[in-house]
Amino acid sequence: MADPARVRTWAEALIRLHLDESWSFAFDNAKTRAGLCNFTAKRISVSRYISARSDDDDIHQVLLHEVAHAIAGPTSGHGAAWRTAAAELGYVGGRTHDGPVPNELAPWVGTCPNGHTSYRYRRPTRPTSCGVCSRRFDPALRIHWVRR
Ligand SMILES: [Zn+2]
Ligand SMILES: [Zn+2]
Repeated sequence: MADPARVRTWAEALIRLHLDESWSFAFDNAKTRAGLCNFTAKRISVSRYISARSDDDDIHQVLLHEVAHAIAGPTSGHGAAWRTAAAELGYVGGRTHDGPVPNELAPWVGTCPNGHTSYRYRRPTRPTSCGVCSRRFDPALRIHWVRR
């Protein structure tokens, strides 16, 4: 588990190095995402709940992911500006979700025809196809969801 004091120290160091004094860090109570970059409040936050279940490297990556959002600005999403900032910070994780949310907490487990596993916190309402097999929706790669 990541020590909250250490997470805060890293976050404040990253903010000092890459952002400015108008930005701050806080823990939040989210359960379905690890980190958040709030542009209105100018605050980077990390879930204390997920932090407690993740190791140091994972939470460090979450911080880099969110700081990259702060550098890239609110309109970038996970676009080119965000990817450049994230790469420069040393972020090596994915861009499809904000940080490594622990999958053991997700009630919905999906499997594609090729055996890739996906997780969801909410019941999938629309047909989904496997993002590992194809970046576009493909009915042949439809994920079969089961609630555990
Ligand atoms: Zn993101
Ligand atoms: Zn697949």
